[in-house]
Amino acid sequence: MTAPLRQNETIVVPVALGARAYDIVIGRGLLASLGERIKSLRPGARVAIVTDDTVATHHLAATEAALKAAGIDCARVVVPPGEGSKNYATFETVCEAIIATRIERTDLIVALGGGVVGDLAGFAAACARRGLDFVQVPTTLLAQVDSSVGGKTGINSRQGKNLVGAFHQPVLVVADSALLDTLPKRQFRAGYAEVAKYGLLGDAAFFAWLEKNWHDVFAGGSAREHAIAVCCRGKAGIVARDERETGERALLNLGHTFGHALEAGCGFSERLLHGEAVALGMALAFEFSAKKGLIAAADAARVSAHLAAVGLPTHLTDVAGGVPSVDTLMDLIGQDKKVKRGALTFILVRGIGQAFIEKNVDASEVRAFLTDKLK
Ligand code: NAD
Repeated sequence: MTAPLRQNETIVVPVALGARAYDIVIGRGLLASLGERIKSLRPGARVAIVTDDTVATHHLAATEAALKAAGIDCARVVVPPGEGSKNYATFETVCEAIIATRIERTDLIVALGGGVVGDLAGFAAACARRGLDFVQVPTTLLAQVDSSVGGKTGINSRQGKNLVGAFHQPVLVVADSALLDTLPKRQFRAGYAEVAKYGLLGDAAFFAWLEKNWHDVFAGGSAREHAIAVCCRGKAGIVARDERETGERALLNLGHTFGHALEAGCGFSERLLHGEAVALGMALAFEFSAKKGLIAAADAARVSAHLAAVGLPTHLTDVAGGVPSVDTLMDLIGQDKKVKRGALTFILVRGIGQAFIEKNVDASEVRAFLTDKLK
Protein backbone atom coordinates (compact mmCIF):
# COMPACT_ATOMS: atom_id res chain seq x y z
CA MET A 1 0.00 0.00 0.00
CA THR A 2 1.33 3.42 -0.94
CA ALA A 3 1.44 6.52 1.27
CA PRO A 4 -1.78 8.57 1.58
CA LEU A 5 -2.17 11.46 -0.81
CA ARG A 6 -2.03 15.01 0.39
CA GLN A 7 -5.23 17.04 0.00
CA ASN A 8 -5.83 18.19 -3.60
CA GLU A 9 -2.71 16.51 -4.94
CA THR A 10 -2.99 15.32 -8.54
CA ILE A 11 -1.50 11.89 -8.94
CA VAL A 12 -0.37 10.20 -12.12
CA VAL A 13 -0.32 6.40 -12.33
CA PRO A 14 1.50 5.17 -15.44
CA VAL A 15 0.29 2.00 -17.15
CA ALA A 16 3.50 0.52 -18.58
CA LEU A 17 2.39 -1.13 -21.78
CA GLY A 18 5.20 -0.18 -24.16
CA ALA A 19 3.73 1.31 -27.35
CA ARG A 20 0.28 1.29 -25.71
CA ALA A 21 1.42 2.93 -22.44
CA TYR A 22 -0.80 5.64 -20.95
CA ASP A 23 -1.37 7.64 -17.79
CA ILE A 24 -4.21 7.53 -15.28
CA VAL A 25 -4.55 11.02 -13.81
CA ILE A 26 -6.40 11.15 -10.49
CA GLY A 27 -7.55 14.20 -8.54
CA ARG A 28 -10.41 16.43 -7.56
CA GLY A 29 -11.61 18.92 -10.19
CA LEU A 30 -9.56 17.49 -13.07
CA LEU A 31 -12.41 17.64 -15.60
CA ALA A 32 -11.66 21.32 -16.21
CA SER A 33 -8.20 20.34 -17.50
CA LEU A 34 -9.50 17.67 -19.93
CA GLY A 35 -9.28 19.89 -23.03
CA GLU A 36 -5.71 20.99 -22.32
CA ARG A 37 -4.66 17.39 -21.60
CA ILE A 38 -6.19 16.18 -24.86
CA LYS A 39 -4.70 19.08 -26.81
CA SER A 40 -1.19 18.29 -25.62
CA LEU A 41 -1.68 14.56 -26.22
CA ARG A 42 -3.24 14.89 -29.68
CA PRO A 43 -2.90 18.44 -31.09
CA GLY A 44 -5.64 19.30 -33.58
CA ALA A 45 -7.80 16.25 -32.79
CA ARG A 46 -11.58 16.47 -32.85
CA VAL A 47 -13.56 14.60 -30.21
CA ALA A 48 -16.79 12.61 -30.06
CA ILE A 49 -18.05 12.26 -26.49
CA VAL A 50 -20.02 9.08 -25.76
CA THR A 51 -22.07 9.28 -22.58
CA ASP A 52 -25.42 8.26 -21.11
CA ASP A 53 -28.47 10.41 -20.38
CA THR A 54 -27.91 10.54 -16.63
CA VAL A 55 -24.23 11.43 -16.82
CA ALA A 56 -25.06 13.94 -19.55
CA THR A 57 -27.45 15.73 -17.18
CA HIS A 58 -24.75 16.13 -14.56
CA HIS A 59 -21.46 16.43 -16.41
CA LEU A 60 -21.76 16.82 -20.21
CA ALA A 61 -21.93 20.63 -20.24
CA ALA A 62 -18.77 20.91 -18.11
CA THR A 63 -16.98 18.36 -20.30
CA GLU A 64 -17.90 20.18 -23.51
CA ALA A 65 -16.90 23.50 -21.93
CA ALA A 66 -13.49 22.07 -20.94
CA LEU A 67 -12.92 20.87 -24.51
CA LYS A 68 -14.16 24.08 -26.13
CA ALA A 69 -11.96 26.17 -23.80
CA ALA A 70 -8.99 24.36 -25.32
CA GLY A 71 -10.31 25.01 -28.85
CA ILE A 72 -11.40 21.40 -29.40
CA ASP A 73 -14.34 20.75 -31.69
CA CYS A 74 -16.64 18.10 -30.18
CA ALA A 75 -19.75 16.07 -30.99
CA ARG A 76 -21.88 14.04 -28.59
CA VAL A 77 -23.45 10.57 -28.67
CA VAL A 78 -25.88 9.95 -25.80
CA VAL A 79 -27.22 6.46 -24.96
CA PRO A 80 -29.77 5.33 -22.37
CA PRO A 81 -28.25 4.60 -18.94
CA GLY A 82 -27.80 1.10 -17.56
CA GLU A 83 -26.45 -2.35 -18.37
CA GLY A 84 -29.13 -2.75 -21.08
CA SER A 85 -27.09 -0.42 -23.29
CA LYS A 86 -24.26 -2.95 -23.53
CA ASN A 87 -26.10 -4.69 -26.36
CA TYR A 88 -25.75 -5.07 -30.14
CA ALA A 89 -28.42 -2.47 -30.94
CA THR A 90 -26.83 0.31 -28.89
CA PHE A 91 -23.37 -0.68 -30.12
CA GLU A 92 -24.61 -0.23 -33.69
CA THR A 93 -26.17 3.13 -32.81
CA VAL A 94 -22.91 4.35 -31.26
CA CYS A 95 -20.75 3.17 -34.19
CA GLU A 96 -23.10 4.77 -36.74
CA ALA A 97 -23.20 8.02 -34.75
CA ILE A 98 -19.40 8.11 -34.49
CA ILE A 99 -19.04 7.56 -38.23
CA ALA A 100 -21.69 10.23 -38.90
CA THR A 101 -19.65 12.80 -36.95
CA ARG A 102 -16.87 12.24 -39.52
CA ILE A 103 -14.38 11.45 -36.77
CA GLU A 104 -11.10 10.42 -38.39
CA ARG A 105 -8.36 8.01 -37.33
CA THR A 106 -6.37 10.92 -35.85
CA ASP A 107 -9.32 12.08 -33.72
CA LEU A 108 -10.49 10.78 -30.35
CA ILE A 109 -13.50 9.24 -28.66
CA VAL A 110 -14.12 10.32 -25.06
CA ALA A 111 -16.01 7.79 -22.92
CA LEU A 112 -17.73 9.91 -20.25
CA GLY A 113 -19.55 7.64 -17.84
CA GLY A 114 -19.48 4.52 -15.75
CA GLY A 115 -18.39 1.04 -16.73
CA VAL A 116 -21.27 0.63 -19.16
CA VAL A 117 -20.32 3.66 -21.22
CA GLY A 118 -16.60 2.85 -20.93
CA ASP A 119 -17.07 -0.72 -22.16
CA LEU A 120 -19.50 0.26 -24.92
CA ALA A 121 -17.67 3.36 -26.18
CA GLY A 122 -14.31 1.59 -25.91
CA PHE A 123 -15.58 -1.29 -28.03
CA ALA A 124 -17.08 1.12 -30.57
CA ALA A 125 -13.72 2.93 -30.66
CA ALA A 126 -11.97 -0.42 -31.23
CA CYS A 127 -14.24 -1.18 -34.20
CA ALA A 128 -15.36 2.04 -35.90
CA ARG A 129 -13.05 2.97 -38.78
CA ARG A 130 -11.01 -0.14 -37.84
CA GLY A 131 -9.91 1.42 -34.58
CA LEU A 132 -9.97 4.88 -33.06
CA ASP A 133 -8.09 6.05 -29.99
CA PHE A 134 -10.15 6.85 -26.92
CA VAL A 135 -9.91 8.62 -23.58
CA GLN A 136 -11.69 7.34 -20.49
CA VAL A 137 -13.34 9.88 -18.20
CA PRO A 138 -14.86 7.53 -15.61
CA THR A 139 -17.75 8.92 -13.57
CA THR A 140 -18.52 6.03 -11.19
CA LEU A 141 -16.30 4.71 -8.41
CA LEU A 142 -16.32 1.30 -10.11
CA ALA A 143 -15.11 2.84 -13.36
CA GLN A 144 -12.44 4.99 -11.67
CA VAL A 145 -10.88 2.06 -9.81
CA ASP A 146 -11.42 -0.71 -12.30
CA SER A 147 -13.23 -0.67 -15.64
CA SER A 148 -11.59 2.42 -17.17
CA VAL A 149 -8.12 0.88 -16.78
CA GLY A 150 -6.78 -2.12 -18.63
CA GLY A 151 -8.41 -2.03 -22.06
CA LYS A 152 -11.17 -4.61 -21.71
CA THR A 153 -14.08 -3.33 -23.78
CA GLY A 154 -17.24 -5.00 -24.96
CA ILE A 155 -20.94 -5.73 -24.78
CA ASN A 156 -23.12 -8.55 -23.49
CA SER A 157 -24.22 -11.49 -25.61
CA ARG A 158 -27.62 -13.09 -25.16
CA GLN A 159 -25.60 -16.02 -23.81
CA GLY A 160 -23.68 -14.14 -21.18
CA LYS A 161 -21.97 -11.03 -19.96
CA ASN A 162 -19.05 -9.37 -21.77
CA LEU A 163 -18.83 -12.19 -24.32
CA VAL A 164 -18.36 -9.91 -27.34
CA GLY A 165 -15.53 -7.43 -27.13
CA ALA A 166 -11.94 -6.45 -27.73
CA PHE A 167 -8.82 -5.50 -25.85
CA HIS A 168 -8.43 -1.83 -26.69
CA GLN A 169 -6.39 0.35 -24.34
CA PRO A 170 -7.34 3.99 -23.81
CA VAL A 171 -4.68 6.64 -24.50
CA LEU A 172 -5.48 8.50 -21.27
CA VAL A 173 -7.69 8.06 -18.19
CA VAL A 174 -8.83 11.19 -16.33
CA ALA A 175 -10.39 10.24 -12.98
CA ASP A 176 -11.93 13.34 -11.39
CA SER A 177 -13.06 12.27 -7.92
CA ALA A 178 -15.47 15.23 -7.72
CA LEU A 179 -17.62 13.63 -10.44
CA LEU A 180 -18.52 10.97 -7.87
CA ASP A 181 -20.30 13.57 -5.72
CA THR A 182 -23.42 13.22 -7.92
CA LEU A 183 -23.36 9.41 -7.87
CA PRO A 184 -26.26 7.82 -5.95
CA LYS A 185 -25.06 6.28 -2.65
CA ARG A 186 -26.07 2.78 -3.77
CA GLN A 187 -23.91 3.08 -6.90
CA PHE A 188 -20.97 4.42 -4.87
CA ARG A 189 -21.33 1.50 -2.47
CA ALA A 190 -21.44 -0.99 -5.36
CA GLY A 191 -18.19 0.50 -6.72
CA TYR A 192 -16.68 0.18 -3.25
CA ALA A 193 -16.89 -3.61 -3.65
CA GLU A 194 -14.23 -3.35 -6.37
CA VAL A 195 -12.12 -1.12 -4.07
CA ALA A 196 -12.25 -3.76 -1.33
CA LYS A 197 -11.38 -6.37 -3.99
CA TYR A 198 -7.89 -4.90 -4.47
CA GLY A 199 -7.17 -5.34 -0.76
CA LEU A 200 -8.67 -8.80 -0.66
CA LEU A 201 -6.82 -10.11 -3.70
CA GLY A 202 -3.33 -8.84 -3.02
CA ASP A 203 -2.94 -6.09 -0.43
CA ALA A 204 -3.87 -7.03 3.14
CA ALA A 205 -2.57 -3.70 4.48
CA PHE A 206 -4.93 -1.83 2.16
CA PHE A 207 -7.87 -3.94 3.34
CA ALA A 208 -6.98 -3.12 6.96
CA TRP A 209 -6.75 0.58 5.98
CA LEU A 210 -10.20 0.36 4.40
CA GLU A 211 -11.66 -1.22 7.53
CA LYS A 212 -10.52 1.89 9.45
CA ASN A 213 -11.08 4.58 6.80
CA TRP A 214 -14.05 3.53 4.67
CA HIS A 215 -16.25 6.30 6.11
CA ASP A 216 -13.76 8.89 4.79
CA VAL A 217 -13.65 7.20 1.37
CA PHE A 218 -17.43 7.61 1.18
CA ALA A 219 -17.27 11.18 2.50
CA GLY A 220 -14.76 12.32 -0.17
CA GLY A 221 -11.48 14.19 0.10
CA SER A 222 -8.00 12.76 0.21
CA ALA A 223 -9.02 9.33 1.59
CA ARG A 224 -11.18 8.79 -1.50
CA GLU A 225 -8.37 9.80 -3.85
CA HIS A 226 -5.90 7.66 -1.92
CA ALA A 227 -8.18 4.62 -2.33
CA ILE A 228 -8.62 5.27 -6.08
CA ALA A 229 -4.86 5.65 -6.52
CA VAL A 230 -4.05 2.43 -4.63
CA CYS A 231 -6.55 0.50 -6.76
CA CYS A 232 -5.29 2.02 -10.02
CA ARG A 233 -1.67 1.22 -9.09
CA GLY A 234 -2.71 -2.33 -8.30
CA LYS A 235 -4.59 -2.75 -11.55
CA ALA A 236 -1.93 -0.97 -13.65
CA GLY A 237 0.72 -3.36 -12.31
CA ILE A 238 -1.34 -6.45 -13.04
CA VAL A 239 -2.32 -5.24 -16.54
CA ALA A 240 1.26 -4.33 -17.40
CA ARG A 241 2.39 -7.85 -16.45
CA ASP A 242 -0.53 -9.70 -18.08
CA GLU A 243 -2.41 -7.48 -20.53
CA ARG A 244 -4.40 -10.28 -22.21
CA GLU A 245 -5.29 -12.29 -19.11
CA THR A 246 -3.20 -15.36 -19.75
CA GLY A 247 -2.40 -15.61 -16.05
CA GLU A 248 -2.25 -13.17 -13.14
CA ARG A 249 -4.90 -10.77 -14.50
CA ALA A 250 -7.56 -13.38 -13.74
CA LEU A 251 -7.05 -12.52 -10.04
CA LEU A 252 -9.08 -9.37 -10.74
CA ASN A 253 -12.02 -11.73 -11.19
CA LEU A 254 -12.11 -12.46 -7.44
CA GLY A 255 -15.80 -12.79 -6.59
CA HIS A 256 -16.82 -12.61 -10.24
CA THR A 257 -17.62 -16.27 -10.98
CA PHE A 258 -20.30 -16.40 -8.29
CA GLY A 259 -21.04 -12.71 -8.94
CA HIS A 260 -21.67 -12.98 -12.70
CA ALA A 261 -23.96 -15.98 -12.17
CA LEU A 262 -25.97 -14.09 -9.56
CA GLU A 263 -26.08 -10.95 -11.70
CA ALA A 264 -27.28 -12.93 -14.72
CA GLY A 265 -29.75 -14.86 -12.54
CA CYS A 266 -31.26 -11.55 -11.45
CA GLY A 267 -31.56 -10.51 -15.12
CA PHE A 268 -28.84 -7.80 -14.89
CA SER A 269 -31.47 -5.70 -13.15
CA GLU A 270 -31.64 -3.11 -10.39
CA ARG A 271 -32.23 -6.01 -7.99
CA LEU A 272 -28.50 -6.66 -7.91
CA LEU A 273 -25.98 -4.18 -9.27
CA HIS A 274 -22.68 -5.46 -10.70
CA GLY A 275 -20.65 -4.29 -7.69
CA GLU A 276 -23.19 -5.74 -5.28
CA ALA A 277 -22.91 -9.08 -7.08
CA VAL A 278 -19.11 -8.83 -6.78
CA ALA A 279 -19.38 -8.16 -3.03
CA LEU A 280 -21.61 -11.17 -2.55
CA GLY A 281 -19.36 -13.21 -4.84
CA MET A 282 -16.27 -12.25 -2.80
CA ALA A 283 -17.99 -13.17 0.47
CA LEU A 284 -18.87 -16.53 -1.10
CA ALA A 285 -15.34 -17.04 -2.50
CA PHE A 286 -13.90 -16.50 1.01
CA GLU A 287 -16.48 -18.83 2.59
CA PHE A 288 -15.85 -21.45 -0.10
CA SER A 289 -12.09 -21.16 0.56
CA ALA A 290 -12.77 -21.63 4.28
CA LYS A 291 -14.92 -24.66 3.54
CA LYS A 292 -12.04 -26.13 1.52
CA GLY A 293 -9.75 -25.57 4.52
CA LEU A 294 -7.64 -22.95 2.75
CA ILE A 295 -8.31 -20.17 5.25
CA ALA A 296 -9.61 -19.82 8.78
CA ALA A 297 -13.36 -19.27 9.08
CA ALA A 298 -12.51 -16.10 11.03
CA ASP A 299 -10.91 -14.56 7.90
CA ALA A 300 -14.05 -15.21 5.85
CA ALA A 301 -16.16 -13.75 8.66
CA ARG A 302 -13.91 -10.65 8.79
CA VAL A 303 -14.39 -10.03 5.05
CA SER A 304 -18.17 -10.45 5.26
CA ALA A 305 -18.31 -8.20 8.33
CA HIS A 306 -16.55 -5.36 6.49
CA LEU A 307 -18.64 -5.63 3.32
CA ALA A 308 -21.83 -5.81 5.40
CA ALA A 309 -20.70 -2.79 7.48
CA VAL A 310 -20.66 -0.61 4.34
CA GLY A 311 -24.09 -1.97 3.39
CA LEU A 312 -23.15 -4.49 0.70
CA PRO A 313 -24.85 -7.89 0.35
CA THR A 314 -22.89 -10.85 1.73
CA HIS A 315 -25.56 -13.54 1.96
CA LEU A 316 -27.69 -15.03 -0.81
CA THR A 317 -30.69 -14.09 1.32
CA ASP A 318 -29.69 -10.40 1.06
CA VAL A 319 -30.79 -10.25 -2.60
CA ALA A 320 -34.18 -8.59 -2.95
CA GLY A 321 -36.66 -11.02 -4.50
CA GLY A 322 -34.36 -14.00 -3.85
CA VAL A 323 -31.79 -15.70 -6.06
CA PRO A 324 -32.31 -18.41 -8.71
CA SER A 325 -32.18 -22.12 -7.87
CA VAL A 326 -28.87 -23.93 -7.43
CA ASP A 327 -29.45 -25.64 -10.82
CA THR A 328 -29.80 -22.28 -12.56
CA LEU A 329 -26.78 -20.86 -10.77
CA MET A 330 -24.68 -23.90 -11.70
CA ASP A 331 -25.75 -23.53 -15.36
CA LEU A 332 -24.76 -19.88 -15.28
CA ILE A 333 -21.43 -20.65 -13.60
CA GLY A 334 -20.84 -23.23 -16.35
CA GLN A 335 -21.37 -20.57 -19.02
CA ASP A 336 -18.92 -18.19 -17.40
CA LYS A 337 -15.92 -17.46 -19.61
CA LYS A 338 -13.61 -18.63 -16.83
CA VAL A 339 -14.51 -22.23 -17.67
CA LYS A 340 -11.88 -24.27 -19.51
CA ARG A 341 -12.87 -27.67 -20.97
CA GLY A 342 -15.49 -28.38 -18.32
CA ALA A 343 -13.32 -27.68 -15.27
CA LEU A 344 -14.43 -24.74 -13.20
CA THR A 345 -11.91 -22.00 -12.58
CA PHE A 346 -12.32 -19.98 -9.40
CA ILE A 347 -10.25 -17.32 -7.74
CA LEU A 348 -9.75 -18.66 -4.23
CA VAL A 349 -7.74 -17.34 -1.28
CA ARG A 350 -5.09 -18.53 1.14
CA GLY A 351 -5.71 -15.48 3.31
CA ILE A 352 -6.77 -11.84 3.06
CA GLY A 353 -4.62 -10.38 0.28
CA GLN A 354 -3.57 -13.81 -0.99
CA ALA A 355 -5.80 -14.74 -3.92
CA PHE A 356 -4.80 -17.45 -6.37
CA ILE A 357 -6.21 -19.09 -9.49
CA GLU A 358 -7.65 -22.59 -8.97
CA LYS A 359 -8.35 -24.19 -12.35
CA ASN A 360 -9.71 -27.53 -11.21
CA VAL A 361 -12.64 -26.83 -8.97
CA ASP A 362 -15.03 -29.75 -8.77
CA ALA A 363 -18.53 -28.65 -9.83
CA SER A 364 -20.14 -30.99 -7.28
CA GLU A 365 -18.26 -29.22 -4.47
CA VAL A 366 -19.59 -25.85 -5.66
CA ARG A 367 -23.11 -27.29 -5.94
CA ALA A 368 -22.97 -28.67 -2.38
CA PHE A 369 -21.65 -25.34 -1.08
CA LEU A 370 -24.44 -23.32 -2.78
CA THR A 371 -27.12 -25.80 -1.66
CA ASP A 372 -25.88 -25.37 1.89
CA LYS A 373 -25.88 -21.56 1.58
CA LEU A 374 -29.47 -21.55 0.29
CA LYS A 375 -30.83 -23.63 3.19
P1 NAD B 1 -22.98 2.17 -15.00
O1 NAD B 1 -22.04 2.61 -16.02
O2 NAD B 1 -24.26 1.57 -15.43
O3 NAD B 1 -23.31 3.38 -14.04
C1 NAD B 1 -24.21 3.19 -12.98
C2 NAD B 1 -25.33 4.24 -13.00
O4 NAD B 1 -24.83 5.45 -12.49
C3 NAD B 1 -25.89 4.55 -14.37
O5 NAD B 1 -27.28 4.73 -14.26
C4 NAD B 1 -25.23 5.87 -14.73
O6 NAD B 1 -26.03 6.65 -15.60
C5 NAD B 1 -25.10 6.52 -13.40
N1 NAD B 1 -23.97 7.43 -13.27
C6 NAD B 1 -22.72 7.26 -13.74
N2 NAD B 1 -21.94 8.26 -13.30
C7 NAD B 1 -22.71 9.07 -12.58
C8 NAD B 1 -22.45 10.27 -11.86
N3 NAD B 1 -21.22 10.78 -11.75
N4 NAD B 1 -23.49 10.86 -11.23
C9 NAD B 1 -24.74 10.31 -11.28
N5 NAD B 1 -25.03 9.19 -11.91
C10 NAD B 1 -24.02 8.57 -12.55
O7 NAD B 1 -22.34 1.10 -14.00
P2 NAD B 1 -20.88 0.87 -13.39
O8 NAD B 1 -21.10 0.23 -12.09
O9 NAD B 1 -20.02 2.07 -13.48
O10 NAD B 1 -20.23 -0.17 -14.41
C11 NAD B 1 -20.70 -1.49 -14.49
C12 NAD B 1 -20.21 -2.07 -15.79
O11 NAD B 1 -18.79 -2.08 -15.81
C13 NAD B 1 -20.66 -3.50 -16.01
O12 NAD B 1 -21.19 -3.61 -17.31
C14 NAD B 1 -19.38 -4.30 -15.90
O13 NAD B 1 -19.39 -5.45 -16.70
C15 NAD B 1 -18.35 -3.31 -16.37
N6 NAD B 1 -17.00 -3.57 -15.89
C16 NAD B 1 -16.01 -3.56 -16.82
C17 NAD B 1 -14.69 -3.78 -16.43
C18 NAD B 1 -13.59 -3.72 -17.44
O14 NAD B 1 -12.45 -4.05 -17.12
N7 NAD B 1 -13.86 -3.28 -18.64
C19 NAD B 1 -14.39 -4.02 -15.08
C20 NAD B 1 -15.44 -4.01 -14.16
C21 NAD B 1 -16.74 -3.78 -14.57
